Amino acid sequence: MGGHGAGGASGGLARGRAKGGLKKAFDAEVTVEIETLVGPGALEGLDFEAIETAARRQALAVAARAIAQRLNADHSDHVGPILSCVACHKPARYAGRREKSFETVLGEMTLARAYYHCEGCEAGFCPRDLALGLLDTTLSPALTRMVGLVSAMVSFAEGGELMQELAGVEVDVKQVERTAKTLGREIAEDERRVVEPSPPTAPTMYLGMDGTGVPMRRSELAGRAGKQPDGSAKTREVKLCTVWSAECRDREGIPVRDQGSVSYSAAIESAASRDTDQTLSAFAQRVGREARRRGFDQAPRRVVLGDGAPWIWNLADELFPGAVQIVDLYHAKHHLSDVAKAIYGPGSDLARQWAKQRHQELDEGHLGSLLLALRAHAEVNEEARKCLDYITRNHSRMRYPEFRSKGLSVSTGVVEAGCKVAIGTRLKRAGMHWTAAGADAIIALRCCKLSGRFEDFWVKWTPISGPVAKVVLVACSLFERSRNHEEQDEPHDAQPCVQGEGCLGGAAGAGAGGGDRSTLQGPRERGLQVAASAGGEHRPSVRGRECRQRLR
Ligand SMILES: [Zn+2]
Repeated sequence: MGGHGAGGASGGLARGRAKGGLKKAFDAEVTVEIETLVGPGALEGLDFEAIETAARRQALAVAARAIAQRLNADHSDHVGPILSCVACHKPARYAGRREKSFETVLGEMTLARAYYHCEGCEAGFCPRDLALGLLDTTLSPALTRMVGLVSAMVSFAEGGELMQELAGVEVDVKQVERTAKTLGREIAEDERRVVEPSPPTAPTMYLGMDGTGVPMRRSELAGRAGKQPDGSAKTREVKLCTVWSAECRDREGIPVRDQGSVSYSAAIESAASRDTDQTLSAFAQRVGREARRRGFDQAPRRVVLGDGAPWIWNLADELFPGAVQIVDLYHAKHHLSDVAKAIYGPGSDLARQWAKQRHQELDEGHLGSLLLALRAHAEVNEEARKCLDYITRNHSRMRYPEFRSKGLSVSTGVVEAGCKVAIGTRLKRAGMHWTAAGADAIIALRCCKLSGRFEDFWVKWTPISGPVAKVVLVACSLFERSRNHEEQDEPHDAQPCVQGEGCLGGAAGAGAGGGDRSTLQGPRERGLQVAASAGGEHRPSVRGRECRQRLR
């Protein structure tokens, strides 16, 4: 395009006249670095691990330098003297190139970017940061992804250590935490906003719900009643929804969850709703979304599994009328064992015998005799009375022989494992005390990862959805205006902004919550396209996904 900026003619990253030259120079520099490391002598007695570690460091540093040089030589992010301000839409003036250091998977990289300043807001922004997915962060997209992945799996400190150990990149633990929580919040927001229904993966789909306490900071618990002796609380309850299928059978023919079929969605949310409420409770809405996403609501046979907690069944009635409701067999048996201990004393033969008989009645569906046996003790024994209530309330959900004959799973093992795997393992470790917001962010991140959805999220990820969408929209209209103004050769039709490919409109759609995945693009896609648009020439934009595939 030539007209923009002092060095604007050098073109975008996807092209590059000096490609061959760059490659040769790059190869040569890496070779020199490696030769320096290994030294001129014989290779005997070589500490190979030391060499490979040092060589990786050097190679990365060379690559970082090469990329920084390339980016810094490209001034196409200077798109004219004026750009509309992100915040107030008044003109923001070009105020030269500004340097900023970013942490990348290649190490630190200092980039000089065109900076636009708005006097009204006393602030400014760099179009290139937006284009590269670097807006309001010092971490590159690939590093942000790494932070997200490790933080989904281990503590922030361990994540930082792993990244240093495995990838040779150093990120401060505070930064790991901040970045992971930002990412988690965006995943949570995306989960609430975007539901892409899919067909059920099996003829029978299971949905389980459960709650588990997560240790909170004291400030988060002020005024909350809990189970501590003084009536105070130490935890808040995370509610988890798990969806899975169980077409597999073990050797005894008992349904076993299908590998890879489990998905989780959880948050610190209320499941309570009053009759007068116009909308479903937050957790009920979450369960509804997850059910649609997994095709649970469309499955020929739907099973809701839970322990005896009334909120689970209220919610199941509300959301999935007609679904089979099953109380977890092992919860029920556990209840009966507790009653036996309360009546005959823990560890006594009589207790064991009584419990065994009750378990058998439960297994065989003799609920009448079971209730009789409980009634005999209910007047004098509190445990027996509570269990009597429990079984009376849930007897239709305890038709175990019938459920078994229909090939249904009667265990919430998957849900309880989910509470441990999705929540406990990450959030209930020694010394951890969460804020509700922090816990929810990391829960969203972890559920996303464990449900195999991180990749999908990443593809459409925007660094900061709201402001970015605005910037993209504004930048888009401006680029369009400037291009029309200069009557440049433009391959798009009259409204290229809404057409997706090679255009900024797709990213705006992402920010605005557009459901069409084909228009949702990650920052790299946009980055390359912003460069292309700013360059004003038509060339096929290299989409981030293809780019990433090439790199693998
Ligand atoms: Zn402004």
